Amino acid sequence: MQAPSLGGVQVPRGNGKTVVRLRHGSSLNDFADKIDANPASLVTVLFHLGEMATATQSLDEDTFGTLAAELGYTIEMVSAEEEDRELLGAFDIDLDAELEAEGDEDLTARPPVVTVMGHVDHGKTKLLDAIRQTDVVAGEAGGITQHIGAYQVHTVHEGADRAVTFIDTPGHEAFTAMRARGAQVTDIAILVVAADDGVMPQTIEALNHAQAAGVPIVVAVNKVDKEGANPAKIRQQLTEYNLVAEEYGGDTMFVDVSAKQNQGIDQLLEAVLLTADAALDLRANADKAARGVAIEANLDKGRGAVATVLVQSGTLEVGDAVVAGTAYGRVRAMFDEHGEPVTVAGPSRPVQVLGLTSVPRAGDTFIVAPDDRTARQIGEKREAAERAALLAKRRKRISLEDFTQALQQGKVETLNLVLKGDVSGAVEALEDALLKIDVGDEVDLRVIHRGVGAITQNDVNLATVDSAIIIGFNVKYAERVEELADREGVDVRFYSVIYQAIDDVEAALKGMLKPEYEETQLGTAEVREVFRSSKFGNIAGSIVRSGLIRRNSKARITRGGKVIGDNLSIESLKRFKDDATEVREGFECGIGLGSFNDVETGDIIETWEMREKPRA
Ligand code: GDP
Repeated sequence: MQAPSLGGVQVPRGNGKTVVRLRHGSSLNDFADKIDANPASLVTVLFHLGEMATATQSLDEDTFGTLAAELGYTIEMVSAEEEDRELLGAFDIDLDAELEAEGDEDLTARPPVVTVMGHVDHGKTKLLDAIRQTDVVAGEAGGITQHIGAYQVHTVHEGADRAVTFIDTPGHEAFTAMRARGAQVTDIAILVVAADDGVMPQTIEALNHAQAAGVPIVVAVNKVDKEGANPAKIRQQLTEYNLVAEEYGGDTMFVDVSAKQNQGIDQLLEAVLLTADAALDLRANADKAARGVAIEANLDKGRGAVATVLVQSGTLEVGDAVVAGTAYGRVRAMFDEHGEPVTVAGPSRPVQVLGLTSVPRAGDTFIVAPDDRTARQIGEKREAAERAALLAKRRKRISLEDFTQALQQGKVETLNLVLKGDVSGAVEALEDALLKIDVGDEVDLRVIHRGVGAITQNDVNLATVDSAIIIGFNVKYAERVEELADREGVDVRFYSVIYQAIDDVEAALKGMLKPEYEETQLGTAEVREVFRSSKFGNIAGSIVRSGLIRRNSKARITRGGKVIGDNLSIESLKRFKDDATEVREGFECGIGLGSFNDVETGDIIETWEMREKPRA
């Protein structure tokens, strides 16, 4: 059905319920495709709705929503997971259908995958170490020496040799990061609670995460060797959180352990297996191309991208073409937690994989593709999708200062302006004067909207969509609009003298309005001790002496007042074992400076950032 639309253009209309499915990062062209319309007419309709966009620009859900409502359509944005499912579908890979098609005869038992969670200092790391040492197989092979992000141990349970896989990054940050990407990795959570300390905030956080994910919990009551340890109290406290010990008639297993003295570790593994057998049906098809999750990854100078993946189903083999998130490649070699090469890895087996072209993120799904080319195409398509989604999220905003730069780089040709003034005469005068500016051929100046009165939400929205700058002459923001402009990153300038406005615009157009930057010190830290790590480089155990240390900020190192390293950056920052974004004065932290390894006790690490200098 064709009907006259806004602006007199003809656009096929929906009946109000017609659903149009769009991917994140779609443009008007994509929308036009779906409803069989001319993209140019959609640009016009959108313009009449007060939003400016080109046909190829990525738009966000709100903008599509407004347009669709006008035309009688309902927009459904395809979720990232669905999008990926569709993407894989285009390569004839359907993971859901694959799982559904598997019958009992295809499935074999697989070991449980366990994550250790709990409050800081309750002994998560120590416990993971203790478990590593009890491994009978590892005992023969000289113990688990490699930290690859996950390991598997063997124990004898009810007369049979059973394996248990542990995710070797304690804490629930890793757990949630993976869950945020839709990766359900953990089958069972061990909740560590120190018997001398009791239930603490992160204990509750951890158990909330596990319960939300529907993951059964085994409680390890740790540090029972300590004086003042009160294991009964822990059981008591946790009943409040629906964790009732078996001995109190509940169904949660509590095991008293001492990670330090290696007590109760076997019983803990026993409890994990009993819980797994009672509550879960842990089986997988080992006889197909591997599917799994990236647990941890880093870039190694000699070996390139090194990723630890957990195979969840199928069997991974050396030589397989693989794709993990946007990273792809061919498995060149695999290693287990003993550093031994392996050629195949079945369900629940963590392995370190060499051969990816880039570094995947923790939680990225990992699949074996039919061939190298498919793996590469999937990786590249995912990357393109991510980029488009990102672009749509921050549709290009611009300030007068950026404009100059963008102009010089040939990225823009038009300066769009929204003019608002207190009286119509002033607005007209301003517009006249601005349009008279002689700017040469390379650049255009367009006034996309003008009006009298305060700067409204509509003005900001307009400016947002078409990267315009708002000029207010003798006016203010309407209520709550300032926040919106801030949030959207729209440059709004206020003037009370017309010539000043004109001068600034002219300067921007002529490429003279360069932003000025100055160095601002953020804080300093003193190095107390240096830890050598082959994986992360040296870590400077430090105490923050002033201000704060922020991850990713610039850094320099001084020794005895002399600068010995400059233009470095804070590559990693940890509080105890957890990653931190910033650490404040008086606190201790571990600082990694990337490849810069010449750190000594007593050095001062100074961090700074470049801030734009406010214009006088
Ligand atoms: P995390 O922050 O939970 O990883 O805790 P850690 O494993 O780093 O342990 C914190 C502190 O508690 C360390 O000093 C450990 O040596 C100590 N610790 C851990 N387990 C035990 C235990 O069973 N008994 C005693 N006495 N100390 C322990």
